[in-house]
Amino acid sequence: MLNDQDREFFQRELASFLPPRAFDAHAHLWLPGCVDFSLPGCDGPVGRAEYESLMAELHPERSCGALFLSFATTAREAHRDTMNQWVASQVAGQPSYRGHFFVRPYDNPEWVRDEVRRLGLHGLKCYHTFADCQPTWQAEIPRYLPEPLVQIAHEEAWTITLHIVRDRGLADASNQHWIRRYCERYPAMRLILAHSGRGFQPAHNLEGLESLRGLDNLYFDTSANCEPIAHQAIIRTLGHERLMYGSDLPVSHMRGRHLGVADSFLWLYEDTPVWDVAYGPVRPVLIGLEHLRSLKWACWSERLSDSAVEDIFYHNAVRVFGLALG
Ligand SMILES: [Zn+2]
Repeated sequence: MLNDQDREFFQRELASFLPPRAFDAHAHLWLPGCVDFSLPGCDGPVGRAEYESLMAELHPERSCGALFLSFATTAREAHRDTMNQWVASQVAGQPSYRGHFFVRPYDNPEWVRDEVRRLGLHGLKCYHTFADCQPTWQAEIPRYLPEPLVQIAHEEAWTITLHIVRDRGLADASNQHWIRRYCERYPAMRLILAHSGRGFQPAHNLEGLESLRGLDNLYFDTSANCEPIAHQAIIRTLGHERLMYGSDLPVSHMRGRHLGVADSFLWLYEDTPVWDVAYGPVRPVLIGLEHLRSLKWACWSERLSDSAVEDIFYHNAVRVFGLALG
């Protein structure tokens, strides 16, 4: 899947930066027809074995486990249970892997407790598209992660991966309110904000993170975020112990990147008609590579030690997910 340009990028930008071990705190598996994920050359089921070979391309010899997030779409809701079972089957008996159950806001919390236990999963994944408001991009957190589910996560000491929405991300007062309330009321639940707090516009992180100081159960995965300042704002405001590397497979293996622009952001993909410029053409590399370079720049700019970089790629996840130290 990598082309020559990706390989050159890896050697030039990443080979000397990446630590020896990388635990991936945000990756998706899928079954054809159950969700909309697809990658060229991956027509069949993508399970742990496929994940491992895809990651061996992105960062050779670094991968040492992952948190797999189940997923569902409203158009294919009937496949949600199949996806949860698929993720469960891929982490069963694997001490370096964890799995999150995809939960809908209208699921019965006690049923969720029983299902997550039965499947041997470790926490919850939710998504705004299941919120009962339109547009769901403006949904407040309880619309897609209701408080009774957070209470169950607290009682069971689970982790929750949350991709916040609304225009201004962490700079939004409602998002700040619900993150703080959930973390304070449910201390045994660990909340992981995806995409470095969805800081695709890093100004939102610079503005909003101050309001989240002092929450011991709040974490961030870096997944697919290509803006170094988004990661830096977390490292500088809350500490590098809060941040965990994540690939967001399949996004990692698509080409392009996002850009913070105005008070928002844009996603540019390989087929977005922007690359053919007079001084070019510009050839996009894999988003997973752009992402890793943004992490390198963040770590460099924050003057992190090698051991702090290793924390972001490995030791923080060992602590959060209770992994056996290898
Ligand atoms: Zn994701």
